[in-house]
Amino acid sequence: MRIAMIGGGYVGLVSGACFAEFGINVSIVETNPARLSALRDGRIPIYEPGLDALVSSNSQAGRLTFGDDIAQAVTGAEAVFIAVGTPPRNGDGAADLQYVHAAARQIAEALTGYAVIVTKSTVPVGTSRRIAEIIRQTRPDADFDVASNPEFLREGNAIGDFMRPDRVIIGLDQRQPERASRAEQVLRQVYRPLSVVEAPLLFTGLETAELTKYASNSFLAMKISFINEMADLCEKLGANVHDLARGMGMDKRIGRDFLQPGPGYGGSCFPKDTLALSRIAQEAHSACRLVETTVQVNEARKAGMAGRIAAACGGSVAGKTVGVLGLTFKPETDDMRESASIPILHRLAEAGATIRAYDPVGMAAAKPLLPQDVVYCTDALEVAEGADVLVVLTEWNMFRALSPAELAKRMRNGVIVDLRNIFDPAAMRAAGLTYESVGRP
Ligand code: NAD
Repeated sequence: MRIAMIGGGYVGLVSGACFAEFGINVSIVETNPARLSALRDGRIPIYEPGLDALVSSNSQAGRLTFGDDIAQAVTGAEAVFIAVGTPPRNGDGAADLQYVHAAARQIAEALTGYAVIVTKSTVPVGTSRRIAEIIRQTRPDADFDVASNPEFLREGNAIGDFMRPDRVIIGLDQRQPERASRAEQVLRQVYRPLSVVEAPLLFTGLETAELTKYASNSFLAMKISFINEMADLCEKLGANVHDLARGMGMDKRIGRDFLQPGPGYGGSCFPKDTLALSRIAQEAHSACRLVETTVQVNEARKAGMAGRIAAACGGSVAGKTVGVLGLTFKPETDDMRESASIPILHRLAEAGATIRAYDPVGMAAAKPLLPQDVVYCTDALEVAEGADVLVVLTEWNMFRALSPAELAKRMRNGVIVDLRNIFDPAAMRAAGLTYESVGRP
């Protein structure tokens, strides 16, 4: 079987490499010259654990190729996946579909025989039908069907998530049952290897599949904002948010995941998808107040974190040296998109702080997004050197093992603001550090 993957970013590259691992011949089309030349040279342009080995073994086996020639990739492909970016459109929060629409036109021009055009990108309801329209307009003779197959992988655990998904959602044009069944057969074949791990394939309509992705991400974002507000309440009432989350999570109806408090969610998905769902609901004149409020709660949370750091420094960071551990929106990724570190560091810099920072893989991506005079260090202990306050922004495992005594020795004023609760409060205080975390007494 042959498939084409349009877009070789976090989703396209991981999905493409995993499909190749399933034994499918995969051609990845990538238009970003830097990303493409890295891939062709056998380098992985993003950080994702395990991806280099997977890409390298499948490239060597000849099942995974990279190029910028869409016609070559699409020729003979039974399925063409669209995995291009859908960033927020400037101004109104709706998803910017220019890359998806451009890909649809390019695919249309390249089609030679029957293919299913599958959207993996997160797209608003109606996009799959719009893709079908674009293809029909561009190539009235083309033989194709469209499908929506939103991707649920998480950066940092992307290969595991793709290989052992909780579910695979596939939306088909159920208004045309014969066409839907033709497309279903192709996609069943693409995903057949997942039967080994008993991953359920859920077939539904195009609109439902598209909406399910936004609903899932918005629900998770809401869970994070909920626990963040509970953490604030715990602080006021002397309760412990971790025990509270454990107590809640033991209830199977609630579940344990996504109940860790922090500085506010970031990343390439939750902020843009919650905004996009709010927009989709507004356009449909259907109330989506919980999601709208989640967006507001999260924005306010990120904005408030600099104030929390200032408060820990006695009210102001002016003239203070702030050490920052972790910059990416979560550990095990180099992705800086919408990371809480961006607004926090800008506010600290505006308030007159000198900032020293370290992130194990995110510093290159962080530099263009952070204040210019941030000093980048080579490790966590160097960050602590002479710092008045040390702030944990991303819970990289390597930070968990830092010795409180070593930190205390290096810092000028031993104030720790742990926004990910990675340290043991008692151990920190025993080393003479002033320690603040989130939602813990
Ligand atoms: P990304 O920006 O890392 O990758 C998109 C890639 O597509 C870029 O490398 C870009 O150069 C390339 N591209 C754009 N137009 C192209 C074209 N016409 N031909 C070939 N290549 C083209 O984005 P991403 O993080 O992989 O996200 C892609 C989509 O998947 C988005 O809709 C996103 O919401 C969704 N998604 C992302 C994640 C995630 O964790 N990153 C998870 C699930 C879903």
